[in-house]
Amino acid sequence: MANKKRAFITGISGQDGSYLTELLLDKGYEVAGLARRNALQELGNVAKIREEIKIYYGDLQSTESIALALYDFKPDEIYNLASLSSPLGSFSDRLGSIMITGVGALNVFERAKQIVPEAKIYQASTSEMFGAPKKIPQDEDTPFNPANPYAAAKEFAHRMAVISRKDSKQPQFISCGILFNHESPRRGLNFVTRKITVAVACIKNGKKENIPLNEIGEPIVQNGKLILGDLSAERDWGYAPDYVEAMWMMLQQKRADDYVVATGELHTVKEFVEAAFQVVGLNWEDYVETDASFIPPVKTGPLCGDASKAKKILGWEAKHKFKDLVKIMVHSDLAKFS
Ligand code: NAP
Repeated sequence: MANKKRAFITGISGQDGSYLTELLLDKGYEVAGLARRNALQELGNVAKIREEIKIYYGDLQSTESIALALYDFKPDEIYNLASLSSPLGSFSDRLGSIMITGVGALNVFERAKQIVPEAKIYQASTSEMFGAPKKIPQDEDTPFNPANPYAAAKEFAHRMAVISRKDSKQPQFISCGILFNHESPRRGLNFVTRKITVAVACIKNGKKENIPLNEIGEPIVQNGKLILGDLSAERDWGYAPDYVEAMWMMLQQKRADDYVVATGELHTVKEFVEAAFQVVGLNWEDYVETDASFIPPVKTGPLCGDASKAKKILGWEAKHKFKDLVKIMVHSDLAKFS
């Protein structure tokens, strides 16, 4: 029997890491991941499939931990998904963002070049790098103009990936997925979409105790209300399991490249709120208030992607659109928070 392909995923316990792990296991890969050690030894979204994967404890800031994992596992494919992934949160930890999301990615590229130079690498770039773009929709040629520390760190990592790819002496296969927002029932509670669907579920189910906490450590629903920031912010939201397929497809190509991955649909936060409350037959205006402390100090958007290149070269297209996504997330949280 042919040897199984080996994939190494940093950020394996996150939303995308967990869906990608499931996809690769289904395809017959051996999967290992880098995870940060925590006091409870929790593995987040991959806890349920712990027995099927290999975990290396480490940190993107520790080049030694990356090196030890690569020496031991010798992956054919590396997916660098680890980052401090909240754009709003990055304003309160600017240095952490640069060191983990930016320099951490370079640590992965450099250690891979020394230890597994033939491995194909996926770098998790982001639509946030476009900042407040002049052109809608954005594609691979749209200039970057990051508007938060997270996006600036991602742009650094993206540019280092492209430089390593073009290096005439030792070129590396590093493909960058410029992914637009993608959500799911596994999205962190500090992201607006998930806050909305959790709040809808708690309100609809009349839940009064043990309400999950938001990014500032307060219950997502307080006195029957959900507090949000800028309702007019515009994003292109897709479904995470569709997006991890695009990551895998990028590493099956002969040439490394950059690809925008998006649905091509633009919606406001207000539209998301409206659609989510509609799923349970409630009027959002009775339950939502706004607070400027949830608005980032520098505005990003409108972000809407043109994924024509991914469709043409990878054969990738978003299977789930906005309304499907909202329903999936609300129904999942209704069952979770009763
Ligand atoms: P996520 O759920 O926040 O997962 C991020 C992962 O990174 C977590 O497993 C986290 O582990 C890990 N991590 C954080 N700091 C680390 C460190 N210093 N060393 C090692 N691991 C560390 O994010 P996601 O939504 O799955 O996104 C995956 C990647 O795609 C991220 O790089 C994100 O920035 C990027 N991206 C996401 C989107 C989106 O809409 N979801 C769009 C574009 C790009 P802990 O559990 O220990 O914190």
